[in-house]
Amino acid sequence: MSNLRTNAIKNLAHTPEPVPVESPAKITAIFNENVFTLSTARKYLCDDAYKSLLASTRGGKKIDRAMGNQIANGLRAWAESKGVSHFTHWFQPLTGLSAEKHDSFFTLKGDGTPIEEFEGAALIQQEPDASSFPNGGLRATFEARGYTAWDPSSPAFIMEIGEGKTLCIPTIFVSYTGESLDTKTPLLKALVALDKAAVDVCQYFDKNVSKVTATLGWEQEYFVVDAGLANARPDLVLTGRTVFGHAPAKGQQLEDHYFGAIPERVYAYMRDFENESYKLGIPLRTRHNEVAPSQFECAPIFEESNLAVDHNTLLMDVMLRVAKRHNLVVLLHEKPFAGINGSGKHNNWSMSTDTGINLLGPGKTPKTNLMFLTFFVNTIKAVHDYAGLIRASIASAGNDHRLGANEAPPAIISIFIGKYLTDVLEQVEKRVGGNFDEQDEAILKLDIHKSIPELMLDNTDRNRTSPFAFTGNKFEFRAVGSSANCAVPMTTLNTVMAETLRTFKTDVDALIEKGEKKEIAILQIIRKYIIESKKVLFEGDGYSEDWEKEAAGRGLENVKTTPEALDAFVTDKTKSLFDRNNIYTHPELEARHEIMLEEYIKKVQIEARVMGDLASTVIIPSAIRYQNILLENITGLKAAGIPQTGYTSQLEIVKLVSEHINIIGEKTTAMIEARKKANEITDTRTKAIAYCEDVKGNYFDIIRYHADKLELMVDDSIWMLPKYREILFLR
Ligand code: ADP
Ligand code: MG
Repeated sequence: MSNLRTNAIKNLAHTPEPVPVESPAKITAIFNENVFTLSTARKYLCDDAYKSLLASTRGGKKIDRAMGNQIANGLRAWAESKGVSHFTHWFQPLTGLSAEKHDSFFTLKGDGTPIEEFEGAALIQQEPDASSFPNGGLRATFEARGYTAWDPSSPAFIMEIGEGKTLCIPTIFVSYTGESLDTKTPLLKALVALDKAAVDVCQYFDKNVSKVTATLGWEQEYFVVDAGLANARPDLVLTGRTVFGHAPAKGQQLEDHYFGAIPERVYAYMRDFENESYKLGIPLRTRHNEVAPSQFECAPIFEESNLAVDHNTLLMDVMLRVAKRHNLVVLLHEKPFAGINGSGKHNNWSMSTDTGINLLGPGKTPKTNLMFLTFFVNTIKAVHDYAGLIRASIASAGNDHRLGANEAPPAIISIFIGKYLTDVLEQVEKRVGGNFDEQDEAILKLDIHKSIPELMLDNTDRNRTSPFAFTGNKFEFRAVGSSANCAVPMTTLNTVMAETLRTFKTDVDALIEKGEKKEIAILQIIRKYIIESKKVLFEGDGYSEDWEKEAAGRGLENVKTTPEALDAFVTDKTKSLFDRNNIYTHPELEARHEIMLEEYIKKVQIEARVMGDLASTVIIPSAIRYQNILLENITGLKAAGIPQTGYTSQLEIVKLVSEHINIIGEKTTAMIEARKKANEITDTRTKAIAYCEDVKGNYFDIIRYHADKLELMVDDSIWMLPKYREILFLR
């Protein structure tokens, strides 16, 4: 019997040695090789053009047309020196992936002379066809074409695909009337809002601060599997996850993968994609095995958020591409395998000043301690006040499988701060009536700074279960999904922070105006915020059932599914928040909401179809084939005069197989009916809920249960889908 599965396993036995990967002796030798960094720009641009680029990169200054032409020329000269003939505006539409439209430098002059040119206009703006990207009705509403516009704050880079090399210009993607159609535009706006609000608050402590940058260090989890095996699983190919598959005899219970050696083939793959990443300026620093078999993680040194987001998007693209060279498939889905840990993308987040201070780094003096406490408590308040929106910012069909699944943070947004800081906040709170007069020194002298080792200790164990944890000098937002574009949660987080800081300043100023001393006013507002938001603080086990009950008692939300979580994007509260901070207009928010719901519907729809197809054309036929073998066997035994007691097992199996087949058949038909009904619904939210509850909720688990039972019964040589034990353990 030969099928995709057996062929893939056979091929695996002949898998050649790991693809040789040449690594430089030093990473610095290739780092930024394919990036138009400022120092490269210095070499290729005249003084004025360089200054114009610098001012734009650092201070957001506009680049005029003449300078645009100069910069474009320099960029082309650099790119051509590296063998590049094409350029593209690289952007991140709302599909979550990156998009490109390639054009060549080649053109014909008016008289037909062929030349290579790259004008400022082509660098600054392009017009890809917006109609093929999700726009949530914005295009229809505004009759808008889509434009990409250069984002000079993220440097241009050269993408190498096989032999081809393309100059990529990072851009935003907006409609003709200015509505954002991508993830970068709102992020840039949120970073501006945060900068302004945080600088204003920093002025209380340090007049020299003139810019605050939000920093992001993501940690990317992923699975790597053999391409042959993956390709023999239509569900993996089409949905990124297995919709069927029984847990293997050996799973992750031995916990031997986490500290284990990285398999050679995977190791070669990692070095390969790391080298590609270094050339692109992605500062990867750590790589290691994760908890589940075949699961791994990589993380860079943190960067300014916009660049960090671009780098993560690029990395995901590089990872997917490089995997092919190694005959491997990388799975970025949040939950590729049931019963085995899923993948996340922890977002480590902080803010730093142009004077070199990390605003979430505990200070050494009472003054810097007060600044730390200010930003620390404002973050807690921001997350508390907008927990629903923060939950919405990480909602996706894939992440629904992971959140709250006993391995990932629950869908309840809470914050872990560790024992030491819990004590600090309690001491501030204890000052009855907010009277800090005699004792404020005592609070500010707390050795928060020295307690860092203690904070770290706290963090190694229990905070694993927290969706939002303070880890010594940054917060770690751990509920982000592995395939997500970090821009979405980061836009939200930076906006709610900007909003909270602005309110904080108003509140403090009001007290100062009443004659209160600055430090006392700040402490009083900090105390007020602690009291108002402390219910979001939780130090216990976030995976436990007790926490679900306690959280409900505290009035914290626990929204488990995407269609409902997304509601938080379109409440009046959210609309006015984003409006005030100039991030999204109401139509933009409505459009995004629509797009996210549609994406959810499509994902579940595809999964349902794949499930139906596989059940009808792969699983049931395998089971029937096996049943026929049994029946033939029984007939033979009967003919040989063996009494029924001689084949009771066979009969029993035949009966059981029939039962499973019948249930699968019946439920699959019913699921198709439910899908048809859902498809008739015109309201997108209602339709998404129908897909979530009536299609997925009512049928996925039950169909899978019976199919997985069959996997355990049917003759292994007949079973067509590669099994978990093969996908996860064969190298
Ligand atoms: P740990 O390994 O204990 O979690 P690390 O310091 O190694 O702590 O950081 C983990 C991640 O957090 C890395 O991706 C790192 O770049 C990022 N990170 C560290 N400091 C900051 C910061 N100030 N802002 C944003 N991310 C940070
Ligand atoms: Mg981490």
